Amino acid sequence: RITAEHVIKFIEGVAARIKEHRDELVQLDQPIGDSDHGVNMDRGFTTVLDKLPTVADKDIGTILKTVGMTLVSTVGGASGPLYGTAFIRAGMALADRYELTPAEVVAALEAALEGIQARGKAQRGEKTMIDAIAPGIDVLKEAQASGEDFHAAMRRSVAAVEAGMKATIPMLATKGRASYLGQRSIGHQDPGATSAFYMAQVMLETIE
Ligand code: ADP
Ligand code: MG
Ligand code: MG
Repeated sequence: RITAEHVIKFIEGVAARIKEHRDELVQLDQPIGDSDHGVNMDRGFTTVLDKLPTVADKDIGTILKTVGMTLVSTVGGASGPLYGTAFIRAGMALADRYELTPAEVVAALEAALEGIQARGKAQRGEKTMIDAIAPGIDVLKEAQASGEDFHAAMRRSVAAVEAGMKATIPMLATKGRASYLGQRSIGHQDPGATSAFYMAQVMLETIE
């Protein structure tokens, strides 16, 4: 059973994990961006933590939508509207829910990815957060179809997210700021794929 308390724990965990890796996310954004990804994400999730008590007793959809709107209005940069839309879409998929089945979690993650793609117009292989997130969701969908245990599937999913994050290193960026560098974007790990991996890690830890 996944409850609203799990969702709150997940968000608090993400805020802490992002703060821990703030400087690393800044450094990853240095060669292929403008050195602000860690600062942007930490600012957003610190504000989210301030807002969380006002929605802690609400349904999961409301909690996630509030997180998303806060990210859109405080993160700035490309990642704010993208992660913001992801949380808002996940929240819309889970309106009025206080408890979730694994199938609902997977459906919400799919809605989140669709939101990122609708907003940013990027596909797989363009060296963005999508290259980490999409393979993780593939694993969860396949696992659902084959009836695999949800915890086991989540562990494999996080491994797929990590592999997807590392796979951004040799990629040529064709979306976002990194695309301005052309061939020089090759050889660097994408910062947004890295923050997505940390979120996936925390999601797994939250249900364990
Ligand atoms: P900015 O590039 O505006 O400074 P951030 O540094 O916070 O914003 O975020 C950069 C990250 O956003 C990139 O590493 C990439 O993963 C992600 N990103 C940028 N553009 C897109 C897009 N169109 N679709 C998906 N993700 C994107
Ligand atoms: Mg940046
Ligand atoms: Mg920026």
